[in-house]
Amino acid sequence: MADRVFNFNPGPSTLPLSVLETVREELLDYRGTGMSVMEISHRSPEFEEINAAAMALARELMGLGNDYQVLFLGGGASTQFAMVPLNFLHEGETAAYADTGAWSAKAIKEARKIGDVHIAASSENTDYRSIPRPADIHYPDDAAYLHITSNNTIKGTQYQVFPDTGDVPLIADMSSDICSRRVDFSTFSLIYAGAQKNLGPAGVTMVVIRKDLLDRCRDGLPTMLDYRTHTEKNSTFNTPPVFGVYVVRLVLEWFMDQGGLEAVEEVNRAKKDAVYALLDAYPEYFKGTVEPRSRSWMNVTLRLPSEDLEKKLIAEAKEAGLVGLKGHRSVGGIRVSLYNAMPLDGAQRVAQFMEDFRKAN
Ligand code: PMP
Repeated sequence: MADRVFNFNPGPSTLPLSVLETVREELLDYRGTGMSVMEISHRSPEFEEINAAAMALARELMGLGNDYQVLFLGGGASTQFAMVPLNFLHEGETAAYADTGAWSAKAIKEARKIGDVHIAASSENTDYRSIPRPADIHYPDDAAYLHITSNNTIKGTQYQVFPDTGDVPLIADMSSDICSRRVDFSTFSLIYAGAQKNLGPAGVTMVVIRKDLLDRCRDGLPTMLDYRTHTEKNSTFNTPPVFGVYVVRLVLEWFMDQGGLEAVEEVNRAKKDAVYALLDAYPEYFKGTVEPRSRSWMNVTLRLPSEDLEKKLIAEAKEAGLVGLKGHRSVGGIRVSLYNAMPLDGAQRVAQFMEDFRKAN
């Protein structure tokens, strides 16, 4: 596999090599069917097995019981921005949102179209450099829910401590850090994540919902936008993203083979430590863009002393087989995305490359 690069793209992003190899092996003849998994019916026993296995693996990895249901939906995480308030923000109620960056802002914009929104905390005045502390998140006791974005892909911040919301349902967009570390997932009533960073290919969105929340779904919604449509039919009300669910299942199995989320977390910790060590050692050269206590394990964001140096680093890194280091177009700079499938070797290589670049420039 000499010509595979280390892929630091922010999403879609790198997948485990062994998963891609399995996909290749099974592509023309999925387990004796004589067909590709892309060609089989979503009502076939083969797909039913894939779907059920992926759902069970997700619950097992996240330590969740039968009181939670896993769904694999289309429409991306962006559709969840609308589905959450459509289902759970009723007439006369207020939904609370913590605003920690561009993706939170998009979720808030959709919710405002549906009902009353209360901003429970915002780090906008510090240019989203930090995550609010739990004590600084304020919302009405009878809020319909509190929505947070656990990892801010663009700014490079991540919750390290989650608010305890008691009876108020806690809902999280975990698109860019799902299954990257151990979390008490049972404190959340609903979690959603586009698969394309940490779980699989684009086109499938994982939703994990606590079943008692379903009682609160608004009646009369368009069928596809009502969570109950999908929970009642195990995500096969309509044709699900069959190929995406298949790859997600393989990635979840790969997490299990690594030793579950404890092991995934240990590797992710070592990866981010390798890169942040440079920001700590040379803060005048590798200028971290966020408050240290809010640092993301998934997206390390930084600036160099000049834009020319940033361009040079990105170009030379690409030559060295380290691709996808350009910061988001809205913020510039460098972004090192270290999602679950990035091996420790990749993080160490990029850190060594950056260190060598500093010496040479
Ligand atoms: N939330 C977060 C935190 C994201 O990073 C992204 C995509 N980068 C989205 C939501 C939107 O996801 P999708 O493209 O699947 O709609």
